[in-house]
Amino acid sequence: MRKPLLMLPLLASAALMLSACSSSSDEADASTKLLVATTVSPITSIASSIGGDRIQVEGIVPEGTNSHTYEPAPQVAELLSKADVIFINGLKLEDPTAELARENMKAGADLIEIGTMTLPESDYIYDFSFPKEEGKPNPHLWTDPLYAIKYAGVIRDELSKRDSENASYYQANYQEFEQQATALADAIRADQKTVPAGNLKLLTYHDAYAYFAKNFGWQVIGAVQPKDFADPTPAEVADLIDQVKSQKVPTIFGSEVFPSKVLEEIGRASGARYEDTLRDDDLPGAPGEAEHSWIGLMKYDYMTMIQGLGGTTNNLAAMNAVPTKADTAVYPQ
Ligand SMILES: [Zn+2]
Repeated sequence: MRKPLLMLPLLASAALMLSACSSSSDEADASTKLLVATTVSPITSIASSIGGDRIQVEGIVPEGTNSHTYEPAPQVAELLSKADVIFINGLKLEDPTAELARENMKAGADLIEIGTMTLPESDYIYDFSFPKEEGKPNPHLWTDPLYAIKYAGVIRDELSKRDSENASYYQANYQEFEQQATALADAIRADQKTVPAGNLKLLTYHDAYAYFAKNFGWQVIGAVQPKDFADPTPAEVADLIDQVKSQKVPTIFGSEVFPSKVLEEIGRASGARYEDTLRDDDLPGAPGEAEHSWIGLMKYDYMTMIQGLGGTTNNLAAMNAVPTKADTAVYPQ
């Protein structure tokens, strides 16, 4: 209670200074915010979760297109020429976009291959859709929550390096993301225990779960989509039908981006149910909606898979999948 009169003018002037600072930084916002370009929508969503309102995020690959064969339109060069940081998955997923970025990047900008930085070469997975002789490993790390946390860490480090004033903000967002992704991983592990013994087997059209399966103890019995994204040969289809029958797989999984007559046929011939709604990089809902996020995508996919294989998903259903930061990224549709 001493000298209250002296304190008041001090507080008032401090408040004035603060409001002067914040209004000038609001005006500067648009030009000082880092412009971050990203490729596939799960990476766009993770970047947005870490950068929050301190960065501007713009996606490149339109949702619902095949990211593996995507060729950037010429106007993408303009975004790539302005971006401060370009985050791509790497592992050879977006070679044409990476090349366009290298040709157009401004001085001081960086092209960060998050997946390539995350996965040591000794852990690369090659398979039917991504054969070793083609030199392109399976690139789908982000469907594994534990790798997604690593992606978030790479993004946090790069943003903090370029914008050290906001480093603690990026770190706090990273911790929230890590918590949510860990809760997702825990819910998957709890719910997958309800799947009848021997049923944790995946036959998917698009081979987006190879790393997840390895780390979570599922078995990928096959993928239908050949390396050239055409249809498999009749002999390959016959093999898959035999496998599904002999392994008694209850459900086989297609994806919305790749509607597949072949998978439908395998389902019919083998007696397995054909579930065609998985998404590997096409977020559910519309931009701005809570489920339109990496966490919303993963919750949806793993609930669909576990239920399809005969389990229940009480833990996944109960988990909070609303991203902690409002997502203002631009998602091309
Ligand atoms: Zn894919």
